[in-house]
Amino acid sequence: MHDLAIVGAGPVGATLACALARSGLDIVVLDARAEGATLRGDRALALSHGARLVFERIGVWAALARTPGAVTPIVAIDVSQAHGFGSTTLAANDVGLPALGYVVSYIALQAALDAAMQAAGLAVTFGAPVSRVDASAAFASVTLDGATLDARLAVVADGGGEHVAGIERVRHAYGKVALIADVVRGAPPDGVAFERFTAEGPVALLPKGGRYGLVWTMPPERAESVCALDNRAFLAALAAHAGARIGRIVSVGPRRTFPLVLEYARPAARPHVAMLGNAAQTLHPIAGQGFNLGVRDAYDLARIVLDTPREALGAAPMVDRYLRTRRADRAAGIAVTHGLSRLFGSDSALVAWPRGLGLALLDVLPPARRAFTRAMLFGVH
Ligand SMILES: Cc1cc2nc3c(=O)[nH]c(=O)nc-3n(C[C@H](O)[C@H](O)[C@H](O)COP(=O)(O)OP(=O)(O)OC[C@H]3O[C@@H](n4cnc5c(N)ncnc54)[C@H](O)[C@@H]3O)c2cc1C
Repeated sequence: MHDLAIVGAGPVGATLACALARSGLDIVVLDARAEGATLRGDRALALSHGARLVFERIGVWAALARTPGAVTPIVAIDVSQAHGFGSTTLAANDVGLPALGYVVSYIALQAALDAAMQAAGLAVTFGAPVSRVDASAAFASVTLDGATLDARLAVVADGGGEHVAGIERVRHAYGKVALIADVVRGAPPDGVAFERFTAEGPVALLPKGGRYGLVWTMPPERAESVCALDNRAFLAALAAHAGARIGRIVSVGPRRTFPLVLEYARPAARPHVAMLGNAAQTLHPIAGQGFNLGVRDAYDLARIVLDTPREALGAAPMVDRYLRTRRADRAAGIAVTHGLSRLFGSDSALVAWPRGLGLALLDVLPPARRAFTRAMLFGVH
């Protein structure tokens, strides 16, 4: 029997694997990806300063930072709302940090983590899609291609979590999609990110090398026609929708969309099974919290595993400790993103006032702004 079976070596599962690389435990890592397969469709991940510290500790940050165009620091975030009062700027200076966070290429991060897992001699099996994860009173069973392997603890970080027996999944569809594309602004890049709240939901611009990653929330029926526009008409539609605050956008690359949902496992663990990252909770991207929460899941679980005797791995006390440790941060991540998506996704005058007031208060009350910024950077503990 293995000590740990990690199902899914995406950015979150691979972070856990790297954090445990020198533990001396018998760890098997399984991923559905074909070995060496080129990932397609890059994403701009918003990484908090806290997540950077985790990547430094597991020895991945330096390689990532050396990769051309892989990491762009965010020095400030300009938050505003269309057709309403109130705006604020969250700045790295406010919290005494060199950057509020970083925009990281998903493909570059995955490449750095894959290289780190290989260098650490971790046994990663690619081309291994897991079809089921079960748990008995004493161990977990992971099924793939008709074969089964047993582990004291199965960690599910496959981004979906639907193969786990005996764990309920709660799902709320927002009825919106996020359209993502790379764009270029007329002004030279200066590390400022923009989050603009509109009646249809947020529009975000994340600095990404010389370009910006655009995340534009809209109803699915509108997304089809907006995606089909030629570049010129697309830029005109974006300018009309988001207004002048985000600056002049002069070019746009290929676009794609993904549906916005809140989905989470309840609970995120049971004896011999623990869930991490998007498998544990998939959030609305409104505050760029989802991936950072997943990194904190991985890091907290690694600390608990290292602090648990081998024979007690996966047993109820260890799993309960994981649930307790992650409870407040997960609940806050879910509540904040869900609440913000409600507050900022509506055109109703009932909420336009409080959100304008909220932004105005953040702007005039530096301690409130600092507290808000810190919670976004480091989570809630
Ligand atoms: C289309 C899309 C666009 C996104 N865009 C953004 C964005 O612009 N900015 C942002 O911050 N966040 C974005 N997100 C969210 C972000 O990608 C996630 O927060 C992050 O990828 C979570 O990492 P993860 O490791 O938990 O899961 P994933 O990144 O999904 O990794 C899961 C891993 O598990 C493997 N796997 C899957 N199924 C199995 C299986 N059955 N057996 C074994 N292995 C399996 C996969 O091959 C993969 O390597 C986006 C998400 C999606 C779906």
